[in-house]
Amino acid sequence: MIPANLISKKRDGLDLTKNEIESFFDGYLSKIVTDEQMSAMLMAIYFNGMNEEEIFSLVNIMLYSGTTLDFSKSKEFVADKHSTGGIGDKVSLILAPIMAALGIKIPMIAGRGLGYTGGTIDKLECIPGFNTSPRIDQFKEWVEKGGYAIMSQSKEICPADKKIYDLRNKTGTVPSVPLICGSIMSKKIAEGISGLVLDIKVGNGTFMKSHDQAIELGSWMKKIGNAFEIKTDIVYSNMDQPLGNYAGLTCEILETIDCLKGKGPDDLMSVTFELGSKLILQSGLSKSKSDAIELQTNIIKSGEGLKSFENSVQNQGGRLNEFYSQSIPDHETYVFSNKAGRIQHMDTEQIGWSLVKMGCVVQDNSKVLDKSAGMEFLKKTGDQINSKDPIFRVFCSNKKILDEVSKSLHKTLIIGEKYPKSKPIIL
Ligand code: URA
Repeated sequence: MIPANLISKKRDGLDLTKNEIESFFDGYLSKIVTDEQMSAMLMAIYFNGMNEEEIFSLVNIMLYSGTTLDFSKSKEFVADKHSTGGIGDKVSLILAPIMAALGIKIPMIAGRGLGYTGGTIDKLECIPGFNTSPRIDQFKEWVEKGGYAIMSQSKEICPADKKIYDLRNKTGTVPSVPLICGSIMSKKIAEGISGLVLDIKVGNGTFMKSHDQAIELGSWMKKIGNAFEIKTDIVYSNMDQPLGNYAGLTCEILETIDCLKGKGPDDLMSVTFELGSKLILQSGLSKSKSDAIELQTNIIKSGEGLKSFENSVQNQGGRLNEFYSQSIPDHETYVFSNKAGRIQHMDTEQIGWSLVKMGCVVQDNSKVLDKSAGMEFLKKTGDQINSKDPIFRVFCSNKKILDEVSKSLHKTLIIGEKYPKSKPIIL
């Protein structure tokens, strides 16, 4: 295999064979193909896409780059949820304990922040001691014991996604249908699940900006899920503004806990219950969506959802008492409106890049996360505001960055007179 030859082929819009994809991607894992060559290939795929045979070859090579889990003997329904990424999207953290409390097992392999979107693993690592990279037998034990566990891709499971995910993050090659399919579906199939719900975000704060792109991604992921005999449901949800009231790291864990105490904001709980209902219906635990929603609200009311979260944190070595006592940021400021009116539009991607600047996503190996960094959204699209009303509360550990970010946040809003056309949260 000559890497430059295969890159040129893809660059020129030609299709690669199964063997060519296998040798190129395997070559990357065994260091025959360099980071530079893989970056060029990712960009060629970004521009020219992939056909069905190429997409399936990519999923296979990424899936079998590591081991896979087997839950075929499980008495309980084993399933998972994954989102294509957004701002303030902490649904996985809320949904997994609710499902586990209902008896659905969730072995979740999740990722770090990607591009300008936050990552479940980065958020969980704000809890002191929380282990996101266990051995695979340990992970399985946690799932059996606590009903759910969450880990990152590792050397053992989905190593290809681990390596390529980092490179896509650094090279602006995230928003590509085949690359997202390879990344998400390899992780989900490796979990050995029987059911899956995918939350495809659509809007200005995610990779699929248009409904058509989102539908294309959803159709591919469903096709792949079905081919691997996983019951796969697709939900499209709105990401034209941040989800919930907070985005960042520690603050998203705190908001998760609030949701599990029954104090979650409507948009966030609607997405959680919609996705949860799909898994409950797949499992046969209830026959209608309204019953499935009732099951979930009852689990929260009874405190079982929160208990499940606390048990799982403990299983994974996390120390919640320490987390609570250290979760106050060093610096905070408010961004005030400079005019009266209604919020017509939020530039959610730019809000995401501001979070990246504050250290909520690592873009470069030399930088570390600022676990205390984040934002509270005091107003959202459609809200009436008066001049000088606070719109954002922004916090992090670096005063200079905080000042820079808070000055630029005005540019993410359009304030006007009209009532903006409201879009439902589930599309
Ligand atoms: N989440 C993933 O795990 N991979 C992607 O490519 C996008 C979102």
